[in-house]
Amino acid sequence: MTGQLLVGQMMERPLLISGLIEHAEQTHPNTEIVSRRCEGDIHRYTMKDAAKRSRQVANLLQRLNIAPGDRIASLAWNGYRHFELYFGVSGYGAVLHTINPRLFAEQLVYIINHAEDRYIFVDLTFVPLLEAIQEHIQGVEGFIVLCDEDKMPATSLSNAQCYETLLNNESDVFAWPEFDERAAASMCYTSGTTGNPKGVLYSHRSTVIHAMASVGEEALGLASTSCFLPVVPMFHVNAWGTPYSAAITGAKQVFPGPGMDGASLWELIDAEQPDLLLGVPTVWLMLLNHMDSIGKKLESVKNVVVGGSAAPMSMIRKFQESHDAFLIHAWGMTEMSPIGTVNSHNNHMESLSLEERYQLQAKQGRPVYGVEMKIVNDANETLPRDGKTFGRLLVRGPWIINGYYKNDDTSSFVDGWFDTGDVATIDSNNYMTIVDRSKDVIKSGGEWISSIDLENAAVGHPELVECCVIGARHAKWDERPLLLAIRKPESTITEQDVLEYLSDKIAKWWLPDAVIFVDSLPHTATGKLLKVDLRKEYENFLLETA
Ligand code: ADP
Repeated sequence: MTGQLLVGQMMERPLLISGLIEHAEQTHPNTEIVSRRCEGDIHRYTMKDAAKRSRQVANLLQRLNIAPGDRIASLAWNGYRHFELYFGVSGYGAVLHTINPRLFAEQLVYIINHAEDRYIFVDLTFVPLLEAIQEHIQGVEGFIVLCDEDKMPATSLSNAQCYETLLNNESDVFAWPEFDERAAASMCYTSGTTGNPKGVLYSHRSTVIHAMASVGEEALGLASTSCFLPVVPMFHVNAWGTPYSAAITGAKQVFPGPGMDGASLWELIDAEQPDLLLGVPTVWLMLLNHMDSIGKKLESVKNVVVGGSAAPMSMIRKFQESHDAFLIHAWGMTEMSPIGTVNSHNNHMESLSLEERYQLQAKQGRPVYGVEMKIVNDANETLPRDGKTFGRLLVRGPWIINGYYKNDDTSSFVDGWFDTGDVATIDSNNYMTIVDRSKDVIKSGGEWISSIDLENAAVGHPELVECCVIGARHAKWDERPLLLAIRKPESTITEQDVLEYLSDKIAKWWLPDAVIFVDSLPHTATGKLLKVDLRKEYENFLLETA
């Protein structure tokens, strides 16, 4: 193309997080926000209240001499105070570092020091976690406990203060500063199955664009008429960006606080009647089991967004057939803010039989506009979108990571693309299916076996609670699959029963070489199976038992 482009004549207003809460206050002032609190009760207020208090947070930061770009951490459940911090801290120009309380103590110490957090806002539940590591995080100047004045605990934390007392002293008038939209707004560390966690630094621009893209029907389908329950934590990847999406749309939020078990979730669902739930498969297993045990139906729920790990077919079926709820399978990662693909309802699904539709729903979905993806081979050559060929999944887009925080490891970045570490297929309609994490795939005689597919097939067995498949060394095939499974408490099923159950569900050569029943399985801080140690433990199992 020759010649000069004609430059468009439109404003370049910065996309800032403060703009989201201002919009929410003006447009959706009366939208309710309901939270189960650590104090035990249910708290209610409106978007207008949240906006006011986020300005009080900003005034508090000013009083604490926080400079733009400083890191302020939160260690908290999903709740209204955490919501205020999302807007107050980022809107002020500081960076909200959401800490995942499920990280190991050494990882907590590492990330707090690596991020150089100046203050930590902490829920009552997590005060002991910080007390235990206090001597190793001496750079932190103070701890602000998210509770009412009369609930302030006796604590060994130095410079611990009560959030409500501090906020009460602050004015709710604050002029949000205007700055470059590329400024950092928040950060989250990956849970890191090997090595130290890595910091992902989101910008105002990336957060706002991600929020705008994720509200539509093709993504999370949020609207002012929606009421949603984000079980996906605000301490990991910003609850999939939903607090920001709620500010755009005025959807009602119901925050579960510390009550993540089936009974507590049901109590909240029954009381608040959300039409949309969002969370990882483990949480829904607990809720579905609870619903079975009390013989009730999730009447108000229309859609359940499931991501973080693959949604098993049995779950897709269960939600539909027992609760009349559609499971929206989604895929993403910390490095992607996190939304990558969503398997939303569409017209094509209407033309399918229920069984065919379930098969389609089991795929991780199609990219939300803004995310480009491709699969490549070891030479980084693009592979066909035929639904069969699989390769390393690469992505790029305005809310995808460009480099880790204070870390020069560039091994995940390939010619402007980010290597997700996932192995996937893409079909001719752009539906992506995760085959496996590249490090978990089992290489049997040069062919690949997906540990995820095997796990999902096995967990469909009515007497198995959880399954984990790993590769073990094999004299002839290099690696063969081992299935580690947790049985239901009274179950007496045998290895043979499980293999028979699997025999018509997977290719014969995929059948595990052994089934080992275990009492528990290790998980990462984000609830994913932690296979590294298991692989080590069972590495020689097949060689030794041959
Ligand atoms: P962590 O920080 O613990 O790695 P992430 O949330 O960033 O947590 O994990 C991202 C990874 O989780 C993805 O790369 C993918 O392997 C897996 N994942 C996420 N959603 C799905 C899904 N729907 N199906 C299968 N795997 C998924």
